Amino acid sequence: MRVHDEAAGIAEEIAELRHAIHREPEIGLDLPKTQAKVLDALDGLPLEISTGQGLSSVTAVLRGSAHSRAHSRPGPVVLLRGDMDALPVTEETGLPYASATPGVMHACGHDLHTAMLAGAARLLSARQAELPGTVIFMFQPGEEGYAGARRMIDEGVLEAAGERPVAAYGLHVTSQRLPCGTFSTRPGAMLAAADQITVTVRGRGGHASTPHRAADPIPVACEMVTALQTLVTRKFDVFDPVVITVGSFHAGTTDNVIPDEARFLATARSFSQESRGALAELVPRLIGEIARGHGLTAEAIYAAEYPVTVNDAAEAAFAAETIAAVFGAERGERAQFPITGAEDFSFVLEQVPGAFVMLGACPAGTDPITAPTNHSARATFDDAALADGTALYAELALRRLAMSRAGD
Ligand SMILES: [Zn+2]
Ligand SMILES: [Zn+2]
Repeated sequence: MRVHDEAAGIAEEIAELRHAIHREPEIGLDLPKTQAKVLDALDGLPLEISTGQGLSSVTAVLRGSAHSRAHSRPGPVVLLRGDMDALPVTEETGLPYASATPGVMHACGHDLHTAMLAGAARLLSARQAELPGTVIFMFQPGEEGYAGARRMIDEGVLEAAGERPVAAYGLHVTSQRLPCGTFSTRPGAMLAAADQITVTVRGRGGHASTPHRAADPIPVACEMVTALQTLVTRKFDVFDPVVITVGSFHAGTTDNVIPDEARFLATARSFSQESRGALAELVPRLIGEIARGHGLTAEAIYAAEYPVTVNDAAEAAFAAETIAAVFGAERGERAQFPITGAEDFSFVLEQVPGAFVMLGACPAGTDPITAPTNHSARATFDDAALADGTALYAELALRRLAMSRAGD
């Protein structure tokens, strides 16, 4: 039987696991209930399972028993990753399996990733005898801003099989843009680097009627916000773009008092090392110079968060070929542009060549163009995508191991 048919055969159990995870979402690095559900789903499979120390991760290793005649070595290693954490959002979907925890919701579809990866572990376990290598299943907490992938790397996920993976793959569902069941990937930059800029402008407070006797930080901070937009358009190549968005701006208490300080937070997105390096250098300099020009001081902290998610060209091509072979060419799309969102799977792809693939999960009857986006309180993801994602995880591992073995 084809892997895709086998995935369809267990689609109901995968959906059940997904709904159970969705109903009890957890945020951050500590996801004990989600971890327990994953361990339960993997129970009885021929896997070497370990759990994280500083985070509630699950690492499962499946060793195939198809040894090549020419080699005594157990064969190459492939890593598959699914993230498990939710977001601080109060769900408004009205789904029967909606979050039972106010203020917490699987609004990014990580519940689907976890369930699909567990499904793939089941399918591949059933094929252990013919598996020409080893698969690491990486169940990861803390994708949404906690760099859980980097923590799992620090705890040894890339060495879990005894040797490093030759390839790594990650999947992500999207509630809009892509029609349900359509896959999308590209070589090179797949998602942006996301960094945080924290600015504090220090002036001297006073009476609002006599600003010349004070040093007002508010107009200076406003000037910085607009100057950052000019920096974006005048210092960066339009074909290697960057995004800076000030998402938080705070100063003062009332209309007739000039405050001592103004503060703002911005996110900076980039798609190359060059642009990211330039942002880290130019932003603090610009902030400092504007403050100095007005006789104030300012501090700009540029904090590197997630790097660019870079797909290896050969692995992205392999993923696209696998999608075409398993689902038909019409189900795969070569993404024209990278996504301005960010992913901590980037930390894995910094060390292992691989590919990150998007999967459309927009519910039937909904227009993908206007559907609520990931992270929205109304974002919904169709269970119909579950069998496809499960099959793709399993096929990527099977075909990549066979390819690697053939090249021995
Ligand atoms: Zn997200
Ligand atoms: Zn996500």
